[in-house]
This record gives sequence, structure tokens and C-alpha cells, in this order.
Amino acid sequence: MVHLTHTLLKPTPVCSHIYIASSRSKLYLPRGSRNHAPKSWTRDYPGPIKAEWNTIARAKGFDLIRRIKDKSHVVLRCHTCGDLTAQKLYTLRTAQPACAGCRHRNIVATAHKAGLEFQGYDPDLHKLGIYHPPCGHTVRRQFGQIERIANGGCKLRCETCHSRREAAEAADRGWRLMGRDPEGKTNYRMYQHGCGHRQRVARANMQSGRFQCTACGEGWSTAPSNLYAIRLELPTGLKVVKLGFSRDPESRLRHQLLLQPGIQAELLRIVPQPNGHAALCQEKNLHRALKKSHPDAIIPHDHFQNWLSVKTEVYGIEIEAFILKRLDEIREK
Ligand SMILES: [Zn+2]
Ligand SMILES: [Zn+2]
Ligand SMILES: [Zn+2]
Repeated sequence: MVHLTHTLLKPTPVCSHIYIASSRSKLYLPRGSRNHAPKSWTRDYPGPIKAEWNTIARAKGFDLIRRIKDKSHVVLRCHTCGDLTAQKLYTLRTAQPACAGCRHRNIVATAHKAGLEFQGYDPDLHKLGIYHPPCGHTVRRQFGQIERIANGGCKLRCETCHSRREAAEAADRGWRLMGRDPEGKTNYRMYQHGCGHRQRVARANMQSGRFQCTACGEGWSTAPSNLYAIRLELPTGLKVVKLGFSRDPESRLRHQLLLQPGIQAELLRIVPQPNGHAALCQEKNLHRALKKSHPDAIIPHDHFQNWLSVKTEVYGIEIEAFILKRLDEIREK
């Protein structure tokens, strides 16, 4: 007699295995049957076991332990890992049954290699697993895709982190991300400007700022802006100063840091500018002057590309005082 004690995998209600109380061993359930009442797997089926079935099971890498649930199911013990899997008799006779224990360990190990934590099986789609990336959000992915990530073939993009980044980019320019494009274009989103007007904007334009509000006419070049200097310390120990301009340096700082946790950041200076165009000109002049006076202080992109979402305008901490002095001079003009 077997008893259902509890299921392990949370947060999904799906049951990939049950515990057999008498032996304390797990019984994995067939993939397509996990949504069936788990209780039905607690019943032994009293019929005889044919010698022929034992022979087939051994030839395929299993021992046939008992019949279960109804006349068409049996419990198999894997010769490789010793785990128990319930299978259809028909599957045993006509195909190579898979050991769910081996498969489960493989899924957990692949997730680990991909830098993820396996959380459980999707209750509705058996090709999908539930994972925790390092950011702590929950993602659903095909097992095959996790294998490609583990082998370095592609990267995982967390949808939650991604939409936060998009919202931060918009906030940086004085807009609020409202949602998908009502006309269904995947590279467009719906945004609301600070003036209250709603407008479709291509995401690339939101990132570059090359668009205007069609109601109030404000664009990045006409809207008030600021030069800023931010001190950043990466978990690698690298300390840098990022110099740039932004309508909202606080928000720029937050979304640049969204790339990776563990970065220390401090906003050192904000110098208000009448509009984005003036800020851009001042910033360009400053970079040109720094390139001339301190060419060795320019930090190559590959020193911070895994940590920051910016590509240039990052300088070594040794010229922090110099940069701040130049900003103060611009403020006093
Ligand atoms: Zn196995
Ligand atoms: Zn995330
Ligand atoms: Zn507007």
C-alpha cells in the first residue's frame, strides 16, 4: 500500500512525484499524467506480473517492482539511479521508457550550469520548466532553451527585469511606460508624457530620445536637462566616474545599475542645463577636453561591459576631482 504524503515542488501545484510512505522512496509520475489526481497513484493494482514483462523491463534498464493504479500501469526501478517511475505497461512493451529520476537530475544540473535554480515543472505545458535567475524573479522556459543557455549558446533575458529597465528608460526622459503598442508592433510601446499626452513611440527612439511629444512639442533637445557625474564601484573593485547628461540623473543612475546587483554608486554632481541641446554640447566639449588632457583615464569598454549598460564616457577614479572642478566651472558660468 502506498500513501501520498506531500509534493515537493513549489510554487506549482503540479505533482511530478509522490512519496511512498512504507519505503520513504519517491515515485515519479509519467509526464502526461501529473495533472491527474495524485491519489490515484497511491493504489496498488492486485493483478499478476507476467515473467515476460520482467524480462522486457530488465532488457530496457529497469526492474518491474509492482502494478499500480489500474491494469495498464506498472512501477519501474531504474538500474542507473535506483529511482521509481510509474509507466504505462504499453510504453514498457513498445518503447524505451524514460527514467523520470534521471531526467529530473539532468534538468536540475543543466539549470545549475546555466546559472539558474530549477523550481518545478509547468503544470500545463510539459516542455516548460520554472526557474529562478540570480535576480530572484520567476521565468518559464523550454528545457531545450535552458540547455542552450547552459552550453553558452544564448543568454536568458528575465522579462520582469527587462520591463523594469524599459520603464526606467522612459522615466529618464519624462515619460511613463503604459504597455504594449495598441497597433501590435513589437518594437513600439505606449507611453504617457509628463504633460498627460499619450503616444506610441519606438523603443529605440525612447532610448535615444530622438522624438517629440506631439501634444506639447517637448523633445530631448528642448526639455531641461542636467550634466552629471556618478562615482561607481564595481564588484570587481574597479572604481570609475561616469560623466553624462540626463533629464533625470537620479533615474539614469538607477537604471544603469539595474544591469547588475552589487554595484555601489554615488551621484557626485548635477549641473542644470536649460535644455538637452545645451547639455549635449557641454558634455561633448568636456569629453573632448578630457580625451586630450587625460587620455589614459578613459576606461576601455571591456573592463565594465558586464556591469554597466553604458558603452563610453567612463573615466578612472583618479581624475574624479578634475572632472568635478570642470563641472563646477560650467555651473558658475
Ligand atoms: Zn534513473
Ligand atoms: Zn529579473
Ligand atoms: Zn507632452
